[in-house]
Amino acid sequence: MSTQQNVTILGSTGSVGANTLDVIERHPERFRVIALTANVRADALLEQCRRHRPRYAVMTDPDAAATLARALAAEGIETEVLSGTEGLERVASLPEVDTVMAAIVGIAGLRASIAAAHAGKKLLLANKEALVTAGAVFMQAVKSGGATLLPIDSEHNAVFQALPRSFAGELAAVGVRRILLTASGGPFRLTAAADLVRVTPDAACAHPNWIMGRKISVDSATMMNKGLEVIEARWLFNAQPSQIDVVIHPQSVVHSLVEYVDGSVIAQLGNPDMRTPIAHALAYPDRIDAGVDFLDLARIGALNFQAPDFGRFPCLRLAYAALDKGGCAPAVLNAANEVAVDRFLCGVIGFTEIPELIEDVLSRCAIGEVESLDDVLEADRAARECAEARLASHSRRAAGNAHGSPALSAAVTHTGARS
Ligand code: NAD
Ligand code: MG
Repeated sequence: MSTQQNVTILGSTGSVGANTLDVIERHPERFRVIALTANVRADALLEQCRRHRPRYAVMTDPDAAATLARALAAEGIETEVLSGTEGLERVASLPEVDTVMAAIVGIAGLRASIAAAHAGKKLLLANKEALVTAGAVFMQAVKSGGATLLPIDSEHNAVFQALPRSFAGELAAVGVRRILLTASGGPFRLTAAADLVRVTPDAACAHPNWIMGRKISVDSATMMNKGLEVIEARWLFNAQPSQIDVVIHPQSVVHSLVEYVDGSVIAQLGNPDMRTPIAHALAYPDRIDAGVDFLDLARIGALNFQAPDFGRFPCLRLAYAALDKGGCAPAVLNAANEVAVDRFLCGVIGFTEIPELIEDVLSRCAIGEVESLDDVLEADRAARECAEARLASHSRRAAGNAHGSPALSAAVTHTGARS
């Protein structure tokens, strides 16, 4: 295949978005950027528009959209500026677009990702929260829209590569016994449970192997990221929860593995660089240069593996439990996590309060069935409301107590940082 692909990048100013543009720039004959999107940072999107001259640029925030439109007009750049979720959905489903990279973080990316699925695009999915919250609805949209879904999350991209091309949604039919997702263990793999109370946002975002956005970095530190990935794998590969295991692998070189009934285990390896899964999916079924250093196994020397510690990392246990419970439980888990991570990054709650808040919200929210996107959005709304109410009552209790909660009083000295 060598015809040029027209590409929309949802969340182009983020970590995955920037890596996607890096790969695209290496292959101008193969890819053409049609639309780029960002949330509030008009300056970052302006810079990308100067360089890539997309037909459309979307800022979710209307004021930021107006700022961008003025700046583009002043420079004579003919990019049309759209705004809001409608703008995102429009550029995800434009008839002239072949390929959509879904790289918005959080459930904020759900509607646009589903729009791309409905429109039958080649859909490169980094936005794992879309599958976690709305798995069944999302997969139905992929099927009815005739979209080609390619995973960007490095673990799922590895599993996709380790499955046979003939895989059509039935693991047993291709002899698969189990999917093994690797996890680096994050920056606190060796930290004593007692010390986790004092972890700061910057320490949580300092991942040992990957440079990523702040939300997913915190998720990696709590291991909620792996929990979300277990749920993501359930939908992508139609796997039972019992068929998905997690193994800690600190080097992040083996990106995941597939175990077959004959005892064979097939893995995908590479340096930890998101440009590899991005290039794989962009060019699929071809292979292209990703600009990534080649793997030097002799220099790495040893690859280690160990079982995950569900006691020190309760988020992983909570995610498996939400998956077992089904219905909108994963959407509630995700919403509570998004609120908790945001408040942790702003210095309002401590690191170990993240799983506490999620567990609390899961135990209080009614868990209904998911039959439509509206069911998912309603579960998300209710869970956020519950999380806010719990945080408010927690801070009232802490204010009424002269000593406060140790984690809260330690955390309020941090200043929040957001992208
Ligand atoms: P990031 O924070 O670096 O970038 C997020 C992008 O989404 C930005 O362009 C931002 O402008 C946009 N955005 C944020 N909030 C928005 C909103 N409310 N509405 C519209 N746009 C919004 O995030 P990232 O690290 O690039 O991660 C993106 C997605 O990819 C996440 O779902 C993450 O879990 C997944 N992922 C990331 C990596 C990685 O290496 N960074 C690896 C695997 C999976
Ligand atoms: Mg991953």
